[in-house]
Amino acid sequence: MKFMNILVIEDDRIVRTLVKHVLEKEGHEVSIAERGETGEDMALNEDFDIIILDLGLPDKSGLEVCKVLREHNRSTPILILSAYQNTDTKVTGLNTGADDYLTKPFDNKELLARIDAINRRSQKSGESNNTYECGELKIDLVNREFYVKDTKVLLTNNEFNLMAYFLKNPNRILDKDELTNNVWDINFDTNTNFLNVYISYLRKKIEDITPVNYIQTIRKKGFMLQCGSGSEQ
Ligand code: CA
Repeated sequence: MKFMNILVIEDDRIVRTLVKHVLEKEGHEVSIAERGETGEDMALNEDFDIIILDLGLPDKSGLEVCKVLREHNRSTPILILSAYQNTDTKVTGLNTGADDYLTKPFDNKELLARIDAINRRSQKSGESNNTYECGELKIDLVNREFYVKDTKVLLTNNEFNLMAYFLKNPNRILDKDELTNNVWDINFDTNTNFLNVYISYLRKKIEDITPVNYIQTIRKKGFMLQCGSGSEQ
């Protein structure tokens, strides 16, 4: 797990000290703001991986801070840490753009688990536009690289485009028309076994590295890239 740069906006000294201690013990870098306005300025001007935000602050509500950050297009994940237990406050917090809500008093392990979960989710969504994964397969659309078990596999242009389409549409039956229409922008005679040939090339290159059969033939329907429990050992 990577170490994160975390901003804690919290006016209660005891909670602040505890959160800082718990996070620093895990190796994270912790910055502190005691007031909403200060925290907001820091969040707008510095780069944090996660913000832990109290709701009851002396100068302004944590919800306002959250709202301002989102209005300024700051997508830093926000974990609200608050004594307010009621569902309305939680829902409002999440609607304002917070990523998660933890009520005080909290368990240290729970705090760390929530932070890990937020971190995982944000890493995933950050990558979602240019890399896709399926079991041991991974494709990087920006650098046009394909990996099987972290081994870089060279693909031709057509193979790469086909693989990319599979990885963007995992666990779904893709018929011949859908594949050919989306992968190649030229019309070609569907009687040819063009597609089958490329699929056999891809299978061969994947099978050189892993025994898992990712690209499955679904009889009379098409093909499916199988990810998850069915294809993982
Ligand atoms: Ca407070």
